[in-house]
Amino acid sequence: MSAGSDVVLRAEGLVKTYRSGRQTLTAVDGVGLELRAGETLGVVGESGCGKSTLARLLMGIEKPDRGTVEIDGKPMPSGRRRFLESSRHIQMVFQDPYTSLNPRMTVGDIVREPFEIHASKLSRAARDARVAELFERVGLSPDNRHRYPSEFSGGQRQRVGIARALALEPRVIVCDEPVAALDVSVQAQVVNLLTDLSSDLGISYVFIAHDLSVMRQISDRIAVMYLGRIVEEGPVDRVFDAPEHPYTRALIDAVPVPDPEQSGSDAGLLQGDVPSPLRIPSGCAFRTRCPIAQDRCAADRPPLSPGAGGGSVACHFPLVAV
Ligand code: ADP
Ligand code: MG
Repeated sequence: MSAGSDVVLRAEGLVKTYRSGRQTLTAVDGVGLELRAGETLGVVGESGCGKSTLARLLMGIEKPDRGTVEIDGKPMPSGRRRFLESSRHIQMVFQDPYTSLNPRMTVGDIVREPFEIHASKLSRAARDARVAELFERVGLSPDNRHRYPSEFSGGQRQRVGIARALALEPRVIVCDEPVAALDVSVQAQVVNLLTDLSSDLGISYVFIAHDLSVMRQISDRIAVMYLGRIVEEGPVDRVFDAPEHPYTRALIDAVPVPDPEQSGSDAGLLQGDVPSPLRIPSGCAFRTRCPIAQDRCAADRPPLSPGAGGGSVACHFPLVAV
């Protein structure tokens, strides 16, 4: 996955809040990111930290309270214009292949639908040919096209979802935990398919996951989210080999390793649950679970600033590689 220099997707200062009774829940709290052509940005963080909300903001499915999204240097259009214009640039693959495909449509019609909506100039025969191509591209026999989603396994359904996302040849695909609902044995196949598509078609991904296990394989850069904010961002090897934020360290230490002697120090292990986004702690939101927090961490919010290793980190006391 080579990374060119042209930015295909840029977000700045994204904020999204929801009303929760009389209270305000902050799901995304000032997120910016840049995605270059052909690049995969992995976004990780525990459940509830705002990853899916960020995905919907990037897709233009929801409007941010504040902040901007640009695709290919142009602001994300809104309303029906968004639907018609941005679909050609950015598409999404959803977490749950059981609910994201219409059960009453054949898988052939599901993959064909983007052409019905957007590519009215293609003849019927040309559409059929494109649908068959897309099936083959994702490793499904075109003979399957008259069957319904319920007749397929989770992994096959996710391939249908990927074929649908590819139909209009988007430059960016946002994958929101695309393998989380699949059997472990099938996860690697779907990840390999996504990796192949990136190298063959030059697609850029925002690849969201709550665990780190597939991230190193697929990502060029990693952004780590905690309670609606990016707390660390950088090249994948740097983030994995020398994390600078204690939260990143803890996430990495939480990944099971085959050899216990290889595991990281206990100091980084995550304690307790993520606080409620209704009551985000003052200063650094991670301080209530951080093994090295000090008074200053409650008083001042650390900004995301250039770290030592070529990425960015939001911590008053970033870890140094040993
Ligand atoms: P993640 O994908 O990282 O698990 P989400 O973006 O789904 O996180 O959710 C972030 C927070 O925002 C959660 O506390 C969730 O309950 C809340 N949230 C998400 N969508 C809505 C919504 N439409 N209305 C109210 N709260 C929401
Ligand atoms: Mg989610």
